[in-house]
Parts: sequence; structure tokens; C-alpha cells
Amino acid sequence: MAHVRIIDASVTYRGVDRKVRALDGVMLDLAEGEPVSVIGPSGCGKSTLLFALAGLVPLDGGSMEVAGEQVAGPRLRTSLILQDFGLLPWKTVLANAALGLQVRRHPRAERERNAIEALERVGLGDVLHTYPSELSGGMRQRLALARALALDADLLLMDEPLSALDALTREDLQGLLLELWRQRKHTAVLVTHSIEEAVFLGRRIVVMTPRPGRVSCVVDNPGFETAGYRDTEAFYERCAALRRLLAEEGALHVADELAGEADTDPAATASGAVRR
Ligand code: ADP
Ligand code: MG
Repeated sequence: MAHVRIIDASVTYRGVDRKVRALDGVMLDLAEGEPVSVIGPSGCGKSTLLFALAGLVPLDGGSMEVAGEQVAGPRLRTSLILQDFGLLPWKTVLANAALGLQVRRHPRAERERNAIEALERVGLGDVLHTYPSELSGGMRQRLALARALALDADLLLMDEPLSALDALTREDLQGLLLELWRQRKHTAVLVTHSIEEAVFLGRRIVVMTPRPGRVSCVVDNPGFETAGYRDTEAFYERCAALRRLLAEEGALHVADELAGEADTDPAATASGAVRR
């Protein structure tokens, strides 16, 4: 599995007449098989961080290492899952799930076997020969997930993958993501706007500053992996602590957006946060 080491990573987008510094000296270390959530204000560079880790955006300073190798381009076992699913409408569910394997030139029989197994794991074993347009949003996101599983990804990068889904479907898929992680123990980076999702799916939660993005702090989440965590007191406390931190960090609109999701106790402290 993939150990991730990000040292002082910076990214600048260069347009015709202006430069945008998206990331500025990001430091982060993920253990093999560790799932973390990343949260921060819009435009702070969360997607950029994932694209850079996926080898799709070059750094202009610092370094990123995955499984002991410098990221210099796309890597075989790194999978990036986006909000808009990235499915090809003219291909069947099975062909879409096998797409990553096809691009990487695996033999046909192996592609089908891996894709079918992955589709069964995400509950799409019955719709192999239908098309994405026939699927609900939740099923499409399951399909995008199956594609990553078929590739046997050891690093899963997810950019707000569940944002477009209704609340119940979203909760369902959060459960699936947790279950798949328990089975496979891949390293995972989940970017999300939802405080609850961040706490439910991250062993640690990385809070980013407004642009140019840096790691503002990392919140430990020791209750993660407790059975029924979502319904525990500890879960609510962690969500409230994270909300306070986001407010402090100037990510107020994130906190506002989600105000009322859990009780906020202004007297409590954001214990477990490590300042960077
Ligand atoms: P987030 O995902 O946190 O909302 P992004 O990583 O998408 O943030 O973007 C970070 C900053 O970089 C933003 O100010 C955005 O406008 C800018 N940006 C993103 N992609 C490009 C690009 N291809 N060219 C120029 N600027 C970009
Ligand atoms: Mg983004």
C-alpha cells in the first residue's frame, strides 16, 4: 500500500496575463493505508492538491512521493474519483468499470473478471450491460468507485465524490466507502465540504487555509472505526470542534453552510488539533 509524503509542495497556475498560486508549501504525511479527509474554503487548492498527487498538475516547488517514488506523472495504482463520475455514456457499465484496465492494456479476460468482481462489490452486479444514462446518481458513483477497485488502486484520491447526491444516497455511499476501506485498507484522500463526512471517513482531518492553500492544522479523529460512530457523542463533539476550527481559519462560509448540522458548544475546545 502507498505511503504518501508531501514536502513543501507548491503549485502555480500560469495564465496568459496572470499567475494563480494555488498551493503554497503544503506539508503532509500519510501512513500506508491511512484514510484522511481534507476540508477547507472553496478555491483554497483542494482539487489542485489531488491533481498534483495524481501526477496531473506539476509542482513548482517541493516534492510529492507515493510508495517511495516521486510523483512525476500518472501512476498505475493511483485512482482519482471526481464528482461528475467521469463515465463514458456510450460504454456499458461493465466496459466503464474495465476502462482503467483497458487503458493500462490488461488482457481482456482479466479486465472482465476484475471489473465484474468490483461491480459486485459495489452492488452493481445486476446491471453489467446497461448504460450510465440508465443509472441513478448513486449508482453512477458506485460505478466510478468500481473502476478504481478493478484497478486495485492502493491510493484513492476523491474530489467531493458524493456532493451531487441526495442525503440518503450520500449516507449510503459513505457507508460503502468505509466498508471498502475496511476490506482493502488503501490509502485514501477524501476532499469534502461536509464536516460530518470528513469526520465519518477520515482517521485524520486536514484543514486547509484560504488560497494559497497550506495545511492549517490536522485534527485527530480517534473515534473513527468505532462501530456506529455516526451516532456517538464523540462523533458530534468532533464535528463541533472541526466547525469551530473552520470558523477560526476563515473558512466561515463552509461552517455557515453547515450550521445546524450538529450542536456547537462554544465553551468546548478543539482538542486533538495539531497546529502546523
Ligand atoms: P478548490 O478545489 O479548493 O476549490 P482548486 O484547486 O480548484 O480549489 O483551485 C485553487 C485555485 O486555483 C483557485 O483560485 C482556482 O481559481 C485556481 N485554478 C484552478 N485551476 C486552474 C487552472 N487550470 N488555471 C488557472 N487557475 C486555476
Ligand atoms: Mg475543488
